[in-house]
Amino acid sequence: MYIPFADLSSQYRSLQPEIDLAMKQVIEKCAFINGPYAHKFEEEFAQFCAADFCVGVGNGTDALFVALKGLGVGPGDEVLVPAMTFIATAEAVSMAGAKPVFVDVDPENGTMDVADLRAKISQASKAVIPVHLYGHPADMEAIEPLARENGLFIVQDAAQAHGATVGGRSLSAFGDCACYSFYPGKNLGAYGDAGAIVTGDAVLAERMRKFANHGRKDKYDHQFEGVNSRMDGLQAAVLSVKLKHLKDWTDRRRAVAAVYDRELSGIEGFKLLKRRVWAGHVYHLYVVRCNDREALSDYLAENGVASGIHYPVAVPFMEAYECYGHTHEDFPAAYAMQESILSLPMYAELSEDSALRVCEVVRGYFAGAE
Ligand SMILES: *Cc1c(COP(=O)(O)O)cnc(C)c1O
Repeated sequence: MYIPFADLSSQYRSLQPEIDLAMKQVIEKCAFINGPYAHKFEEEFAQFCAADFCVGVGNGTDALFVALKGLGVGPGDEVLVPAMTFIATAEAVSMAGAKPVFVDVDPENGTMDVADLRAKISQASKAVIPVHLYGHPADMEAIEPLARENGLFIVQDAAQAHGATVGGRSLSAFGDCACYSFYPGKNLGAYGDAGAIVTGDAVLAERMRKFANHGRKDKYDHQFEGVNSRMDGLQAAVLSVKLKHLKDWTDRRRAVAAVYDRELSGIEGFKLLKRRVWAGHVYHLYVVRCNDREALSDYLAENGVASGIHYPVAVPFMEAYECYGHTHEDFPAAYAMQESILSLPMYAELSEDSALRVCEVVRGYFAGAE
Protein backbone atom coordinates (compact mmCIF):
# COMPACT_ATOMS: atom_id res chain seq x y z
CA MET A 1 0.00 0.00 0.00
CA TYR A 2 1.44 3.37 -1.07
CA ILE A 3 0.02 6.41 0.75
CA PRO A 4 0.61 9.66 -1.14
CA PHE A 5 0.93 13.04 0.57
CA ALA A 6 -2.21 14.33 -1.15
CA ASP A 7 -4.54 12.93 -3.80
CA LEU A 8 -6.28 15.34 -6.16
CA SER A 9 -7.21 12.77 -8.81
CA SER A 10 -9.52 10.69 -6.63
CA GLN A 11 -11.43 13.86 -5.75
CA TYR A 12 -11.82 14.64 -9.46
CA ARG A 13 -13.04 11.11 -10.17
CA SER A 14 -15.75 11.49 -7.53
CA LEU A 15 -17.01 14.75 -9.10
CA GLN A 16 -16.13 14.27 -12.76
CA PRO A 17 -19.56 14.51 -14.46
CA GLU A 18 -20.49 17.66 -12.56
CA ILE A 19 -17.12 19.35 -13.08
CA ASP A 20 -16.93 18.50 -16.76
CA LEU A 21 -20.42 19.89 -17.32
CA ALA A 22 -19.66 23.07 -15.38
CA MET A 23 -16.52 23.72 -17.45
CA LYS A 24 -18.34 23.05 -20.70
CA GLN A 25 -21.00 25.62 -19.78
CA VAL A 26 -18.40 28.31 -19.09
CA ILE A 27 -16.78 27.68 -22.46
CA GLU A 28 -20.10 27.69 -24.32
CA LYS A 29 -21.08 30.98 -22.69
CA CYS A 30 -17.57 32.43 -23.13
CA ALA A 31 -17.73 33.60 -19.50
CA PHE A 32 -13.97 33.48 -19.12
CA ILE A 33 -13.10 36.49 -16.95
CA ASN A 34 -15.21 37.68 -14.01
CA GLY A 35 -18.73 37.21 -15.44
CA PRO A 36 -21.69 35.19 -14.13
CA TYR A 37 -19.77 32.14 -12.85
CA ALA A 38 -17.26 34.24 -10.96
CA HIS A 39 -20.05 36.35 -9.43
CA LYS A 40 -22.02 33.26 -8.47
CA PHE A 41 -19.01 31.77 -6.72
CA GLU A 42 -18.27 35.07 -4.97
CA GLU A 43 -21.79 35.06 -3.52
CA GLU A 44 -21.57 31.44 -2.46
CA PHE A 45 -18.16 31.86 -0.89
CA ALA A 46 -19.20 35.03 0.98
CA GLN A 47 -22.09 33.05 2.41
CA PHE A 48 -19.83 30.13 3.33
CA CYS A 49 -17.55 32.59 5.17
CA ALA A 50 -20.48 34.41 6.82
CA ALA A 51 -19.22 37.62 5.19
CA ASP A 52 -21.08 40.33 3.28
CA PHE A 53 -18.68 40.71 0.37
CA CYS A 54 -16.30 38.53 -1.61
CA VAL A 55 -13.93 39.78 -4.31
CA GLY A 56 -12.50 37.07 -6.56
CA VAL A 57 -8.91 37.59 -7.72
CA GLY A 58 -6.26 35.70 -9.68
CA ASN A 59 -4.55 33.86 -6.79
CA GLY A 60 -3.99 33.95 -3.03
CA THR A 61 -0.84 36.07 -3.23
CA ASP A 62 -2.76 38.72 -5.14
CA ALA A 63 -5.58 38.48 -2.58
CA LEU A 64 -3.12 39.67 0.09
CA PHE A 65 -1.60 42.29 -2.22
CA VAL A 66 -4.97 43.66 -3.33
CA ALA A 67 -6.17 43.79 0.31
CA LEU A 68 -3.08 45.77 1.38
CA LYS A 69 -3.49 48.18 -1.55
CA GLY A 70 -7.20 48.52 -0.79
CA LEU A 71 -6.35 49.56 2.76
CA GLY A 72 -3.81 52.11 1.52
CA VAL A 73 -0.68 50.30 2.73
CA GLY A 74 2.39 51.40 0.79
CA PRO A 75 5.95 52.78 0.87
CA GLY A 76 7.16 53.80 4.34
CA ASP A 77 4.78 51.40 6.07
CA GLU A 78 5.70 48.28 8.01
CA VAL A 79 3.50 45.20 7.99
CA LEU A 80 3.91 42.52 10.65
CA VAL A 81 3.99 38.95 9.36
CA PRO A 82 4.82 35.64 11.07
CA ALA A 83 8.27 34.11 10.50
CA MET A 84 6.84 30.66 9.71
CA THR A 85 4.57 30.81 6.67
CA PHE A 86 4.66 30.47 2.90
CA ILE A 87 6.72 33.26 1.30
CA ALA A 88 3.62 34.84 -0.27
CA THR A 89 2.60 36.44 3.05
CA ALA A 90 5.77 38.56 3.09
CA GLU A 91 6.00 38.90 -0.68
CA ALA A 92 2.59 40.61 -0.85
CA VAL A 93 3.86 43.24 1.60
CA SER A 94 6.87 44.01 -0.59
CA MET A 95 4.65 44.01 -3.70
CA ALA A 96 2.63 46.80 -2.06
CA GLY A 97 5.88 48.75 -1.51
CA ALA A 98 5.85 48.26 2.28
CA LYS A 99 8.35 46.46 4.51
CA PRO A 100 7.64 43.04 6.04
CA VAL A 101 8.57 42.89 9.74
CA PHE A 102 8.81 39.34 11.00
CA VAL A 103 7.26 38.07 14.23
CA ASP A 104 8.21 34.78 15.89
CA VAL A 105 5.63 32.02 16.25
CA ASP A 106 3.98 30.00 18.99
CA PRO A 107 5.93 26.70 18.98
CA GLU A 108 2.80 24.73 19.89
CA ASN A 109 0.82 25.55 16.74
CA GLY A 110 3.05 27.68 14.48
CA THR A 111 0.85 30.79 14.42
CA MET A 112 1.98 34.35 15.27
CA ASP A 113 3.30 34.79 18.82
CA VAL A 114 1.25 37.57 20.42
CA ALA A 115 3.96 38.71 22.88
CA ASP A 116 6.49 39.04 20.05
CA LEU A 117 3.89 40.89 17.95
CA ARG A 118 3.51 43.42 20.77
CA ALA A 119 7.31 43.83 20.92
CA LYS A 120 7.65 44.41 17.15
CA ILE A 121 4.96 47.09 16.73
CA SER A 122 6.58 50.46 15.87
CA GLN A 123 5.57 53.96 14.78
CA ALA A 124 5.76 52.78 11.17
CA SER A 125 3.50 49.73 11.65
CA LYS A 126 0.41 49.99 9.48
CA ALA A 127 -1.02 46.47 9.35
CA VAL A 128 -0.62 42.94 10.65
CA ILE A 129 -1.14 39.72 8.67
CA PRO A 130 -1.97 36.82 11.01
CA VAL A 131 -1.61 33.51 9.16
CA HIS A 132 -3.92 30.63 10.06
CA LEU A 133 -1.06 28.21 9.52
CA TYR A 134 -1.81 24.58 8.61
CA GLY A 135 -5.52 25.41 9.15
CA HIS A 136 -5.08 26.27 12.85
CA PRO A 137 -6.42 29.80 13.39
CA ALA A 138 -4.11 32.46 14.81
CA ASP A 139 -5.16 33.82 18.21
CA MET A 140 -7.49 36.49 16.79
CA GLU A 141 -9.10 37.25 20.15
CA ALA A 142 -5.70 38.46 21.40
CA ILE A 143 -4.36 39.89 18.13
CA GLU A 144 -7.39 41.97 17.24
CA PRO A 145 -7.50 44.20 20.38
CA LEU A 146 -3.71 44.61 20.31
CA ALA A 147 -3.79 45.65 16.65
CA ARG A 148 -6.70 48.05 17.15
CA GLU A 149 -5.06 49.74 20.17
CA ASN A 150 -2.12 50.46 17.88
CA GLY A 151 -4.19 51.58 14.91
CA LEU A 152 -3.20 48.64 12.72
CA PHE A 153 -5.24 47.14 9.91
CA ILE A 154 -5.75 43.38 10.14
CA VAL A 155 -5.49 41.35 6.94
CA GLN A 156 -5.90 37.64 7.65
CA ASP A 157 -4.01 35.12 5.54
CA ALA A 158 -6.59 32.34 5.43
CA ALA A 159 -5.02 30.55 2.44
CA GLN A 160 -4.83 27.34 4.49
CA ALA A 161 -7.95 27.86 6.57
CA HIS A 162 -11.22 27.73 4.58
CA GLY A 163 -13.94 27.26 7.18
CA ALA A 164 -11.74 27.59 10.29
CA THR A 165 -13.30 29.22 13.37
CA VAL A 166 -12.15 31.00 16.53
CA GLY A 167 -14.27 30.41 19.62
CA GLY A 168 -17.04 29.15 17.33
CA ARG A 169 -17.00 32.36 15.26
CA SER A 170 -16.08 32.47 11.58
CA LEU A 171 -12.82 34.21 10.63
CA SER A 172 -14.93 36.93 9.00
CA ALA A 173 -15.85 38.13 12.50
CA PHE A 174 -12.28 39.42 12.90
CA GLY A 175 -10.12 42.08 11.30
CA ASP A 176 -10.64 44.05 8.09
CA CYS A 177 -10.68 41.16 5.68
CA ALA A 178 -9.58 37.56 5.12
CA CYS A 179 -7.61 36.41 2.07
CA TYR A 180 -8.04 32.96 0.55
CA SER A 181 -6.12 30.92 -1.99
CA PHE A 182 -7.72 28.28 -4.19
CA TYR A 183 -4.41 26.85 -5.40
CA PRO A 184 -5.21 23.23 -6.37
CA GLY A 185 -3.70 21.71 -3.23
CA LYS A 186 -5.57 23.93 -0.75
CA ASN A 187 -8.59 22.64 1.21
CA LEU A 188 -10.77 24.21 -1.50
CA GLY A 189 -8.75 24.04 -4.70
CA ALA A 190 -9.40 25.19 -8.26
CA TYR A 191 -7.89 23.60 -11.40
CA GLY A 192 -5.42 26.43 -11.76
CA ASP A 193 -4.76 29.66 -9.85
CA ALA A 194 -7.54 31.54 -8.05
CA GLY A 195 -8.01 33.56 -4.88
CA ALA A 196 -10.52 35.74 -3.05
CA ILE A 197 -10.85 38.34 -0.32
CA VAL A 198 -13.88 38.41 1.97
CA THR A 199 -14.84 41.42 4.05
CA GLY A 200 -17.76 43.09 5.78
CA ASP A 201 -16.62 46.54 4.58
CA ALA A 202 -18.51 47.66 1.46
CA VAL A 203 -16.15 50.56 0.70
CA LEU A 204 -13.06 48.36 0.98
CA ALA A 205 -14.69 45.67 -1.18
CA GLU A 206 -15.44 48.20 -3.93
CA ARG A 207 -11.91 49.62 -3.81
CA MET A 208 -10.34 46.15 -3.99
CA ARG A 209 -12.64 45.12 -6.84
CA LYS A 210 -11.65 48.15 -8.88
CA PHE A 211 -7.94 47.84 -8.07
CA ALA A 212 -7.92 44.20 -9.21
CA ASN A 213 -9.58 45.21 -12.48
CA HIS A 214 -7.33 48.03 -13.78
CA GLY A 215 -8.88 50.66 -11.51
CA ARG A 216 -11.92 50.34 -13.71
CA LYS A 217 -15.30 51.90 -13.04
CA ASP A 218 -16.61 51.06 -16.47
CA LYS A 219 -15.13 49.41 -19.53
CA TYR A 220 -12.82 52.27 -20.54
CA ASP A 221 -13.39 54.49 -17.53
CA HIS A 222 -10.34 53.98 -15.28
CA GLN A 223 -10.44 55.95 -12.03
CA PHE A 224 -6.90 55.00 -11.05
CA GLU A 225 -4.16 52.56 -12.00
CA GLY A 226 -4.77 49.09 -10.70
CA VAL A 227 -3.64 45.64 -11.76
CA ASN A 228 -5.09 42.73 -13.69
CA SER A 229 -6.02 40.08 -11.13
CA ARG A 230 -9.50 38.73 -11.74
CA MET A 231 -11.17 35.43 -11.17
CA ASP A 232 -11.22 33.08 -14.12
CA GLY A 233 -14.70 31.77 -15.02
CA LEU A 234 -13.52 28.17 -15.45
CA GLN A 235 -11.96 28.22 -11.99
CA ALA A 236 -15.07 29.79 -10.48
CA ALA A 237 -17.29 27.08 -11.98
CA VAL A 238 -15.03 24.33 -10.59
CA LEU A 239 -15.00 26.04 -7.20
CA SER A 240 -18.82 26.29 -7.09
CA VAL A 241 -19.07 22.53 -7.64
CA LYS A 242 -16.46 21.80 -4.99
CA LEU A 243 -17.69 24.29 -2.38
CA LYS A 244 -20.79 22.17 -1.79
CA HIS A 245 -18.51 19.39 -0.51
CA LEU A 246 -16.15 21.47 1.59
CA LYS A 247 -17.92 20.89 4.92
CA ASP A 248 -17.84 17.11 4.40
CA TRP A 249 -14.21 17.22 3.32
CA THR A 250 -13.30 19.23 6.42
CA ASP A 251 -15.08 16.66 8.60
CA ARG A 252 -13.04 13.95 6.89
CA ARG A 253 -9.79 15.83 7.51
CA ARG A 254 -10.78 16.19 11.16
CA ALA A 255 -11.48 12.46 11.38
CA VAL A 256 -8.02 11.69 9.98
CA ALA A 257 -6.48 14.14 12.47
CA ALA A 258 -8.36 12.43 15.31
CA VAL A 259 -6.81 9.10 14.31
CA TYR A 260 -3.33 10.65 14.24
CA ASP A 261 -3.92 12.44 17.57
CA ARG A 262 -5.04 9.24 19.22
CA GLU A 263 -2.51 6.83 17.74
CA LEU A 264 0.57 9.03 17.81
CA SER A 265 0.44 10.56 21.27
CA GLY A 266 2.93 9.58 23.94
CA ILE A 267 5.84 8.57 21.68
CA GLU A 268 9.16 9.61 23.18
CA GLY A 269 11.14 12.08 21.04
CA PHE A 270 8.06 12.87 18.96
CA LYS A 271 5.63 15.74 19.43
CA LEU A 272 2.26 16.62 17.99
CA LEU A 273 1.34 20.27 17.51
CA LYS A 274 -1.38 21.31 19.95
CA ARG A 275 -4.82 22.51 18.95
CA ARG A 276 -6.02 25.34 21.20
CA VAL A 277 -9.40 24.66 22.81
CA TRP A 278 -10.96 27.64 21.00
CA ALA A 279 -9.58 26.67 17.60
CA GLY A 280 -11.83 25.25 14.86
CA HIS A 281 -8.88 23.65 13.05
CA VAL A 282 -9.40 22.59 9.41
CA TYR A 283 -6.18 20.56 9.07
CA HIS A 284 -4.82 21.79 5.77
CA LEU A 285 -1.71 20.00 7.01
CA TYR A 286 -1.03 17.65 9.88
CA VAL A 287 2.37 18.61 11.24
CA VAL A 288 4.47 16.75 13.81
CA ARG A 289 7.87 17.48 15.32
CA CYS A 290 10.78 15.20 16.03
CA ASN A 291 14.52 15.46 16.45
CA ASP A 292 15.74 13.31 13.58
CA ARG A 293 13.16 14.37 11.04
CA GLU A 294 15.15 13.23 7.96
CA ALA A 295 15.55 9.71 9.32
CA LEU A 296 11.83 9.46 10.07
CA SER A 297 10.88 10.79 6.64
CA ASP A 298 13.28 8.32 4.93
CA TYR A 299 11.80 5.46 6.94
CA LEU A 300 8.27 6.54 6.00
CA ALA A 301 9.25 6.66 2.31
CA GLU A 302 10.83 3.19 2.49
CA ASN A 303 7.55 1.95 3.90
CA GLY A 304 5.34 3.59 1.29
CA VAL A 305 4.26 6.68 3.21
CA ALA A 306 4.89 10.11 1.69
CA SER A 307 5.61 13.16 3.85
CA GLY A 308 6.52 16.83 3.38
CA ILE A 309 8.09 19.80 5.19
CA HIS A 310 6.15 23.04 5.59
CA TYR A 311 8.44 24.87 5.59
CA PRO A 312 12.10 23.83 5.55
CA VAL A 313 13.34 27.44 5.76
CA ALA A 314 11.48 30.06 7.81
CA VAL A 315 10.86 33.20 5.78
CA PRO A 316 13.38 35.59 7.47
CA PHE A 317 16.17 33.06 6.78
CA MET A 318 15.45 32.74 3.06
CA GLU A 319 17.95 34.08 0.57
CA ALA A 320 15.22 36.44 -0.65
CA TYR A 321 15.25 38.22 2.73
CA GLU A 322 19.00 38.20 3.35
CA CYS A 323 18.88 41.98 3.03
CA TYR A 324 17.33 42.18 6.52
CA GLY A 325 20.31 40.35 8.04
CA HIS A 326 18.32 38.12 10.39
CA THR A 327 19.99 35.35 12.39
CA HIS A 328 18.44 32.19 13.82
CA GLU A 329 18.51 33.75 17.30
CA ASP A 330 16.07 36.43 16.12
CA PHE A 331 13.29 33.85 15.67
CA PRO A 332 14.13 30.88 17.90
CA ALA A 333 10.70 29.23 17.70
CA ALA A 334 10.48 29.48 13.91
CA TYR A 335 14.04 28.17 13.63
CA ALA A 336 13.30 25.21 15.93
CA MET A 337 10.24 24.43 13.82
CA GLN A 338 12.08 24.52 10.49
CA GLU A 339 14.60 22.01 11.86
CA SER A 340 12.06 19.54 13.29
CA ILE A 341 8.70 19.67 11.49
CA LEU A 342 7.28 16.97 9.25
CA SER A 343 3.86 16.91 7.56
CA LEU A 344 2.02 13.58 7.38
CA PRO A 345 -0.41 12.64 4.58
CA MET A 346 -3.63 14.65 4.98
CA TYR A 347 -6.59 14.85 2.60
CA ALA A 348 -10.31 14.17 2.74
CA GLU A 349 -10.07 10.94 0.74
CA LEU A 350 -7.48 9.37 3.08
CA SER A 351 -9.23 6.31 4.52
CA GLU A 352 -9.16 5.38 8.19
CA ASP A 353 -7.18 2.26 7.26
CA SER A 354 -4.57 4.36 5.49
CA ALA A 355 -4.36 6.76 8.45
CA LEU A 356 -3.87 3.78 10.77
CA ARG A 357 -1.17 2.45 8.45
CA VAL A 358 0.68 5.81 8.63
CA CYS A 359 0.57 5.59 12.44
CA GLU A 360 1.78 2.00 12.39
CA VAL A 361 4.81 2.97 10.30
CA VAL A 362 5.61 5.95 12.55
CA ARG A 363 5.37 3.72 15.62
CA GLY A 364 7.51 1.11 13.86
CA TYR A 365 10.22 3.69 13.31
CA PHE A 366 10.34 4.65 16.97
CA ALA A 367 10.18 1.02 18.11
CA GLY A 368 13.20 0.28 15.90
CA ALA A 369 15.08 3.36 17.06
CA GLU A 370 14.95 2.34 20.71
C1 LIG B 1 -0.89 29.15 -0.68
C2 LIG B 1 -0.60 30.26 0.24
C3 LIG B 1 -0.56 31.60 -0.20
C4 LIG B 1 -0.57 32.00 -1.65
O1 LIG B 1 -1.58 31.54 -2.41
P1 LIG B 1 -1.39 31.36 -4.01
O2 LIG B 1 -2.78 31.12 -4.46
O3 LIG B 1 -0.49 30.20 -4.22
O4 LIG B 1 -0.84 32.63 -4.54
C5 LIG B 1 -0.41 32.59 0.74
N1 LIG B 1 -0.26 32.31 2.04
C6 LIG B 1 -0.25 31.04 2.50
C7 LIG B 1 -0.10 30.81 3.97
C8 LIG B 1 -0.41 29.98 1.61
O5 LIG B 1 -0.40 28.73 2.07
